[in-house]
Amino acid sequence: MIPSYLVDFDLNTLPVVKTDVIVIGAGIAGLFTALKLSEQHRVVLVTKKSLLDSNTRYAQGGIAAVIAETDSPQLHLEDTLLAGAGLCERDAVDALVHEGPLGVKDLVKLGTKFDEENGEFALTKEGAHSRRRILHANGDATGFEIVRALSKKALENHNIEVWDNHFVIDLITENNECVGALVQKDNGERIYLSGKATVLCSGGCGQLYRYTTNPDVATADGVSMAYRAGANVRDMEFVQFHPTSLCYPGAPRFLISEAVRGEGALLRNIHGERFMEKYDPQLELAPRDIVARAIVNEMEQTKATFVYIDITHKSEDFIKHRFPTIYKYCLEYGLDLTTDWIPVAPAMHYMMGGVETDLNGQTSIKRLFACGEVSSTGVHGANRLASNSLSEAIVFGRRIVEQINQLAELPSTAHISFNLNRKTPLMQPVVEKRLKLQRIMVRYTGLKRSAEGLMQGMQELQRQLPIFEAQLNEREEYEFANLLTCALLTTASAYYREESRGGHYRTDFPMRNDEKWLKHTVLNRHHAPIEEVITYV
Ligand SMILES: Cc1cc2nc3c(=O)[nH]c(=O)nc-3n(C[C@H](O)[C@H](O)[C@H](O)COP(=O)(O)OP(=O)(O)OC[C@H]3O[C@@H](n4cnc5c(N)ncnc54)[C@H](O)[C@@H]3O)c2cc1C
Repeated sequence: MIPSYLVDFDLNTLPVVKTDVIVIGAGIAGLFTALKLSEQHRVVLVTKKSLLDSNTRYAQGGIAAVIAETDSPQLHLEDTLLAGAGLCERDAVDALVHEGPLGVKDLVKLGTKFDEENGEFALTKEGAHSRRRILHANGDATGFEIVRALSKKALENHNIEVWDNHFVIDLITENNECVGALVQKDNGERIYLSGKATVLCSGGCGQLYRYTTNPDVATADGVSMAYRAGANVRDMEFVQFHPTSLCYPGAPRFLISEAVRGEGALLRNIHGERFMEKYDPQLELAPRDIVARAIVNEMEQTKATFVYIDITHKSEDFIKHRFPTIYKYCLEYGLDLTTDWIPVAPAMHYMMGGVETDLNGQTSIKRLFACGEVSSTGVHGANRLASNSLSEAIVFGRRIVEQINQLAELPSTAHISFNLNRKTPLMQPVVEKRLKLQRIMVRYTGLKRSAEGLMQGMQELQRQLPIFEAQLNEREEYEFANLLTCALLTTASAYYREESRGGHYRTDFPMRNDEKWLKHTVLNRHHAPIEEVITYV
């Protein structure tokens, strides 16, 4: 059984810091929400490493918003619903497509410089978008530009205290109300941070898998601490594998953005043959799950560990100007995007599920909000449409701020303690455990799943459960406990959903089954043990 808290504590004996609002995470969701909140509140923005360590910092392709006259919210809505394969919440998508442009205006006001062409925003197209609606910055460095602009503003803001290199271990709850967070400083000291509202913006879970485009901070901390606190966690089986990450000896799984295919790149198997016409009429621009599985099929049929992406038919100037980051990165490994076909393979990229929220970012725990990749707002359904995640963070960030502006103060500071008498430290190095978990997830809860494999994966993961009885002290140990929690949630949900849809593919149930499965899976620790906790909405 997973306990409510990762460590034993007594709030009466810990130093207390009081603020108005706690924001956990410094990606686009955390920075943007903190800046908007700071107009009326004092905010403590906690992040476990530097302001540059987030998924946001690596976003390349861009941010989807209806800007062009030839585009409309209705078209953006239709594309999003189609990619989501029947599981999007329509009202949430409505909010996204109508309020996205407002959020983009806010980003510009806060100093983000998007690329322009002839005095207008330059717009590109990505997989499964029917129109050019993706704004980008410095070619293919959109996330970096957003983080640069927003973190500069946050650091200058007198109402925002940035706590970098601070790790949030757990959310503190009393009577299903979040009253703050237990935070560990770099030197190991623990603090009780109290606020009238807490906004979880802690990103995704890429590190669950051996191959991922996500940086090492993506360890599912938020979704796991929310689960421990008793929040509803939704649709965890839907994991997006990006079809094209660099697959070259010695190189990390660097993302070769969807925008490269958006600008006309072709996929070829190792014999040089194009293959997407066998799988989908949209060819290289089919939804990501279809392209990823097509690539895996080709890899299996040709007994190769990669396929190629080929954009060599475009001019050298165009490639260097449009994809400067990707071009330079590949060149470091001796691969020239302008003349070489680049070897690529799928890698874990995005967590579609997360902490369930309503249309205002409110979770099932009072005073706890979730925003960005950690949340399940209903926008993405079973598969995220490319470049919708950055927009989702700003649209729901704005809505959360409106809610918090109306929230009453906390009646008093909590005096909670929690004691499982944990005295034995971990014996095995946590690095080994993490690698083992990542291998289990690739093997059993990866791109292709089956009941037998998922059950095997579950059993292997459960052997690690004694970690929750150990005395944890280090950041890496908490992260492993969070990865384990999230691995169990993902595997349990994947086992339960006996169909294939979006980012979830079962070899034993290869068809989509709307009659039985047009619904979310929701896990909550209070309902029953982990194998039985799935309820339906
Ligand atoms: C390579 C790559 C390319 C992408 N390209 C695009 C794109 O072009 N368009 C698009 O829309 N999306 C893209 N995505 C997805 C998108 O970047 C993310 O979904 C989005 O940036 C998530 O933002 P966030 O603020 O929710 O989380 P993040 O940006 O991941 O930020 C999470 C923050 O939480 C902090 N944190 C986590 N746990 C703790 C803890 N326990 N204590 C304290 N702090 C904690 C982290 O350090 C970090 O600061 C891409 C993702 C990747 C990896």
